[in-house]
Amino acid sequence: MSGYAAPLSEMRFALDAIAGFGEIAALPGYDAAASRETVDAILEEAAKFAAEVLAPLNAVGDRERSRLENGTVHTPTGFKAAYDAFVASGWSALAMPEEHGGQGLPLVLGIAVLEMWTSANLAFSLCPILTQAAVELLATHGSDEQRQLYLPKLMSGEWAGTMNLTEPQAGSDLGAVRMRAIKDGDYYRLTGQKIFITYGEHDLTPNIVHAVLARTPASAPGSKGLSLFIVPKFLVNRDGSLGEPNDIRCLKLEEKLGIHASPTCVLSYGDNGGAIGTLIGEEGRGIEYMFLMMNGARLNVGLQGVAIAERAYQQARDYALNRVQGRPVAAIDEGALPIIHHPDIRRMLLGMRSDAEATRALLYYTAGQIDRARREPDGETRAQHQARVDLLIPIAKAWSTARGFEAASTNIQVHGGMGFIEETGAAQHLRDARISLIYEGTNGIQANDLLTRKLVRDDGAAMHDLIAEMRGLDLAGPDLVGLKKLLRDGIDALEKASESLRKLYRTHQAIALAGAVPFLELFGTVTAGWLTARAALAAGRGYDAEFAAAKRVTAQFFAEHRLATAPALLPAIAGGATVMQLDPDRI
Ligand SMILES: Cc1cc2nc3c(=O)[nH]c(=O)nc-3n(C[C@H](O)[C@H](O)[C@H](O)COP(=O)(O)OP(=O)(O)OC[C@H]3O[C@@H](n4cnc5c(N)ncnc54)[C@H](O)[C@@H]3O)c2cc1C
Repeated sequence: MSGYAAPLSEMRFALDAIAGFGEIAALPGYDAAASRETVDAILEEAAKFAAEVLAPLNAVGDRERSRLENGTVHTPTGFKAAYDAFVASGWSALAMPEEHGGQGLPLVLGIAVLEMWTSANLAFSLCPILTQAAVELLATHGSDEQRQLYLPKLMSGEWAGTMNLTEPQAGSDLGAVRMRAIKDGDYYRLTGQKIFITYGEHDLTPNIVHAVLARTPASAPGSKGLSLFIVPKFLVNRDGSLGEPNDIRCLKLEEKLGIHASPTCVLSYGDNGGAIGTLIGEEGRGIEYMFLMMNGARLNVGLQGVAIAERAYQQARDYALNRVQGRPVAAIDEGALPIIHHPDIRRMLLGMRSDAEATRALLYYTAGQIDRARREPDGETRAQHQARVDLLIPIAKAWSTARGFEAASTNIQVHGGMGFIEETGAAQHLRDARISLIYEGTNGIQANDLLTRKLVRDDGAAMHDLIAEMRGLDLAGPDLVGLKKLLRDGIDALEKASESLRKLYRTHQAIALAGAVPFLELFGTVTAGWLTARAALAAGRGYDAEFAAAKRVTAQFFAEHRLATAPALLPAIAGGATVMQLDPDRI
């Protein structure tokens, strides 16, 4: 079992050199809060909390799991105390809007801190990120009364929030949601069942505020007829105190592959006449409201890829430094040495390190673009950043989580047989990582989104702008010469694939969609290659020589082992017609 130490110098570098934290912190609205001293103090305190409080509970949570007893969910030993300490330290309100009681810091700083919670204890981190989603929903679309009743307690973390979308027949296609909401005076009464609800019931907080997607009787069929409701576990009196329990029951906790400490609940609403809820915004606009907060939610899940890659890398590195086995070829006169001396182990470690850094660069860059899209004073500039965010979100979510899962698998390989044995904890990271490729829109759905909404809808304009910016990166100088050609070949391949897939989609939608996942892979790889090249350049200016050299190695490795494979994806992207030959009626 290994611990976790937040890679603070890497995080600061990604904040400063990749996201452009200095510029972001100076934007109107952030300037007062985000001084250098404040930021350093936040990062250091968070690193301590992650290492000392959350990381030691990770294996406990995996072993003990959350348990359902007589309708109540008990989280594993230590989780309640850790959550209370989390709330008491004010971590819940960190990146929440100031006007509602948050600290009003840049989102990208919140992302750096969330990376630490997630690396330390992925199952724990899900509770605050779902609360954050409920806060965003209410802050943006809630009525004055809803905000007054719920926001302060959700922001502080005193109460937790959830997202109730999924039903047995409605997963990727939320248009199939059946949960009913019938108006009853000032309220609605909800009946139906939701499944897979993360932290749908637990003992961490005295109240849980559910955001529930449901259908009103006269609504249009499909997703256009869906509305969003706030349905608390305990009804809330006008003075904010807790009232009667609402008509919601946790029927079951799912037995899962990983994130065992996170209770994944089947919730039944309205067994005794209807759970009482209030409408968020207007009827029929539920999916629209969900979409508006989707970028943030997808970013948070994409971050799980970074966090797991980092945690797995740290564990593999520590094991490789200590496990003595065999004599490396060059060490003729020596006895057995730690496995880190074997070339293949070094290759795996460098692969994990470069993937952790590349995914971090992608996530922090995207978060920085969100900050700019929110706070730049000029409307046109805000719109340009928003277009960049929308384009990058599918790879921030899908490409990063795929890398996190791979890194967790490589960690097991570095451990050899011990990686397969639960006692080392390597297997937990692999099991925990797997869900990140599925929830918050499966990675296949992200690829569809990238092709249909992000590439086709604007005729490739946002992609064109990004490619032009990538081409503008000046990699002159002998140190990065090998990288330069590989990056150029990758960008050429991305441009070619974007053009051809966009055209193909106009005439043959299904065939084009069959190439969407390899296209997402190409786009993610090239964008990450561009960002790691930028990192190598930036590290050469003003960082110490050892750090700069390490960044050059990472960028070069990424180019040789990842970027170099990008053009080879072109046949798969263009090969949708072959995929479509698999006949559903004859398989
Ligand atoms: C541990 C866990 C926690 C979760 N937490 C929550 C939560 O808190 N709240 C909540 O509401 N939900 C939650 N979910 C649900 C999760 O978001 C869904 O499982 C996910 O969206 C996929 O839906 P599904 O499981 O019904 O799979 P399906 O939609 O049935 O998908 C099955 C396969 O078909 C593919 N597919 C489906 N439609 C398409 C399409 N149009 N094009 C291409 N491929 C397609 C998918 O990519 C996937 O590979 C959670 C799930 C799990 C397992």
